[in-house]
Amino acid sequence: MDCPHVTRFAPSPNGHLHLGHALSAIAAHDLARPGGGRFLLRIEDIDGPRSRPELADEFRADLAWLGLEWEDVPAQSTRLASYAAAAETLKARGLIYPCTCTRSEIEAAGAREGSDGLIYPGTCKHRGADPARPAAWRLDAEKALAQTGPLVWEDALAGPQAADMSLLGDIVLVRKDLPASYHLAVTLDDAADGVTLVTRGADLFGASHVHRTLQALLGLPVPRWHHHPLLLADDGQKLAKRRGSPSLAARREAGEDGRVLAQQLRVQLCHLEPDAAASI
Ligand code: GLU
Repeated sequence: MDCPHVTRFAPSPNGHLHLGHALSAIAAHDLARPGGGRFLLRIEDIDGPRSRPELADEFRADLAWLGLEWEDVPAQSTRLASYAAAAETLKARGLIYPCTCTRSEIEAAGAREGSDGLIYPGTCKHRGADPARPAAWRLDAEKALAQTGPLVWEDALAGPQAADMSLLGDIVLVRKDLPASYHLAVTLDDAADGVTLVTRGADLFGASHVHRTLQALLGLPVPRWHHHPLLLADDGQKLAKRRGSPSLAARREAGEDGRVLAQQLRVQLCHLEPDAAASI
């Protein structure tokens, strides 16, 4: 028998939640709760000035309105020390290197587009970073691969995946302004929170190659992943507030029934991933 899953919804409080977030939260909730598992809410609030902590309460009100039940786990802003400690470990092992390049310098160096933005061409790795300028720290993907050897991770829908760091290259693990990037923070948090099934949208599929690599480097447990298809707007675009899709808060305040909306989203989810029930 399968063990009950621990899943999570990990929104960044950079803007209101919209229908795509609701779908993601419902997917993670429904994979955990009916089978006696745990559904966690983690607020990913380390995005510097873009982060608006006051939105966390709005997110909770949105989830309750959808009829979901969850457990709160500590927000990322309370976990900076654990990120810094992991970064120190990686530094001591020579697996990350300082990089002072700006985005325009990276573009000027002829970087190619990867699955998560530009693939860093390794400028600071080869010439050394300028000590007078603020530095981010990047994973040396080549050294990482030499240490981990080939790795596999498993997506519940897409099946086994060979971890491929070339899709993202030498990604930033420590930002210039923060002790962690999304990739480092989320990998450490999912391990600390005991997440066993990382449920999130297919737009983050590529990031899981990096997260699997970090788990191997840092000796962290390896979960399974479930990347659900994205809910698209009528024009085929990803749903986002900036493209005019109404926020959950606006729908809630307008008096819409959140539980009815959640049921409609469950039907859509079922159409988006008809084989999910059999594979999870
Ligand atoms: N915080 C991320 C976001 O809001 C989600 C991260 C994840 O699910 O791994 O897009």
